[in-house]
Amino acid sequence: MNKPILLMVDDDPQVLAAVRRDLRARYREQYTVMSAPSGETALTAVRDLKARGDALAMVISDQRMPAMLGNELLSRVRDVYPLARRVLLTAYSDIAAAVNAINEAHVDHYLSKPWDPPEEKLYPVVDDLLDTWQAESLPETSGLRLVGHQWSPRSHAIKDFLAGNLVPYRWLDVDRDPDSRTLLDAVGVAVDDLPALVFEDGGALRNPEPRDVAERLGKSLSASFDVCDLVIVGAGPAGLAAAVYGASEGLRTILLDRHGPGGQAGTSSRIENYLGFPNGVSGSELTRRAVAQAHRLGAEFLVPLEVTGISIEAGYKRLTFTEGRELVTRAMLAASGMIYREHPARGVAEHSGAGVYYGAATTEAPAFSGRRVMVIGGGNSAGQSAMHLARYAKEVQIVIRRDGLQHTMSHYLIDQIAGTPNIRLRPRTELECVQGAGHVERVILRSLDGTSSDEEVDAVFIFIGTRPQSDWLPAAVLRDVKGFVLTGRDLMAAERYPQVWKEPREPLPLETSVPGVFAAGDLRAGAMNRVASAVGEGSMVVRLVHEYLALT
Ligand SMILES: Cc1cc2nc3c(=O)[nH]c(=O)nc-3n(C[C@H](O)[C@H](O)[C@H](O)COP(=O)(O)OP(=O)(O)OC[C@H]3O[C@@H](n4cnc5c(N)ncnc54)[C@H](O)[C@@H]3O)c2cc1C
Repeated sequence: MNKPILLMVDDDPQVLAAVRRDLRARYREQYTVMSAPSGETALTAVRDLKARGDALAMVISDQRMPAMLGNELLSRVRDVYPLARRVLLTAYSDIAAAVNAINEAHVDHYLSKPWDPPEEKLYPVVDDLLDTWQAESLPETSGLRLVGHQWSPRSHAIKDFLAGNLVPYRWLDVDRDPDSRTLLDAVGVAVDDLPALVFEDGGALRNPEPRDVAERLGKSLSASFDVCDLVIVGAGPAGLAAAVYGASEGLRTILLDRHGPGGQAGTSSRIENYLGFPNGVSGSELTRRAVAQAHRLGAEFLVPLEVTGISIEAGYKRLTFTEGRELVTRAMLAASGMIYREHPARGVAEHSGAGVYYGAATTEAPAFSGRRVMVIGGGNSAGQSAMHLARYAKEVQIVIRRDGLQHTMSHYLIDQIAGTPNIRLRPRTELECVQGAGHVERVILRSLDGTSSDEEVDAVFIFIGTRPQSDWLPAAVLRDVKGFVLTGRDLMAAERYPQVWKEPREPLPLETSVPGVFAAGDLRAGAMNRVASAVGEGSMVVRLVHEYLALT
């Protein structure tokens, strides 16, 4: 296998030579550094690389070039190598063009000239982007391969588990991919045993549970402490932030999740409004960074582990998990967030995992290349997913009950959708029925004026209302009528507060009606439902835990 390529493009020979020199000085052991004097020659080189099957890791292009501007080149490179990192090189006076390029051409970063010294201004940016590229890309011939039927809910569950836990793998559809049969014969797996996970060493797991996969991949299910200071249930943004602060402030901290890290944010294809990421960040990338940070600071992460109940004994919280394991802690954070509501239309439940997916657009999008898909819902999560699906599918329809998206979706997404020709909005419409033999083949839609229509589609992605994941909490943890957990001052206003709260002090902010059990993020009544607010609350909670521990 050839080394991956770093491609530098500039019409100014001096600049080109200087960047090439700096890149070679640091990256030549692992990457081949190539250069091109114009956008056209660069595009030809990129197509040749693709035809040869080489990996393109990054393109750095000057913005001002005579025949083709840098942002246009980078946008066209994206069509050939969607994962390659794209960096625009600009003069200070061109910063406005660079910011536009972030929005229009989805450029990953811009560097303004001059970049000296490279140790400060060039290498940190390139190192970071190459790290993210490596995390997402996997060589064709190596690594983990999952073989299964596209319409099997079991295959979908394993795909979702691997993607949710940031494990790179290659998906082989046994009905479409000719290599899959050869691979199955080589490792001795029968088609009846699918889905099968095939490892680089030739070993295979036949029709595994996510738990078997976790064990084979060395994910931990049991903690190294007998009694911890803080157990965090749920590794979405709130839980991850609490793990970072808890571990960095010396608490014996355990973070656990029933699925994998990232929560709802982890399923987002592009979060555009999180502070410090001017060009947006994918949910998986934000999660990868947060997990690495929590790990480095000493938090333990257990996955997949689902809490089923809690009992309180002399102030200690005893958590029980499916399969009867237990964990004892002095303080606990409930950060189990929200989950999409089941759609009540006929045929939805039968096709779940076989063409009907809840919020799994990033996991399943590549499987629907060239096909027709439907997104149900008009919120930001539906909009982001429609944009992501539109990169693969022939047509994406967004079905909403309202007249338009303006009341439920952010402006930037409405603009992006309006500028994407293969997305079609179906206002004043609802999903009535999903049909198909073994997998989704068509849906019946009903317009609010009463007419019904049949549509052929291959998949339906559902993003309708959410509900809190609070069923696992004991009844003593007070909730509002919708099931969101009450904390702090909201708790004191609840009717049952005087019956349940027996401490001589008021509850701390973010503390629930059980002393020492805190709640943060989307699970909490009154939450803002944003990544930043979940992170903020998760960070805050650690100081409150210290206060609580000092009282006990
Ligand atoms: C597709 C999509 C796109 C979004 N885009 C944006 C955006 O661009 N900007 C923005 O600000 N916000 C966005 N949001 C909203 C944002 O992601 C949420 O507000 C945020 O993730 C809430 O974080 P959280 O930690 O409170 O909970 P969650 O993210 O919901 O995480 C909860 C975690 O708890 C785990 N869990 C649940 N029950 C248990 C149990 N019993 N035992 C163990 N683990 C359990 C779950 O598996 C999950 O991992 C988006 C949401 C979605 C779905």
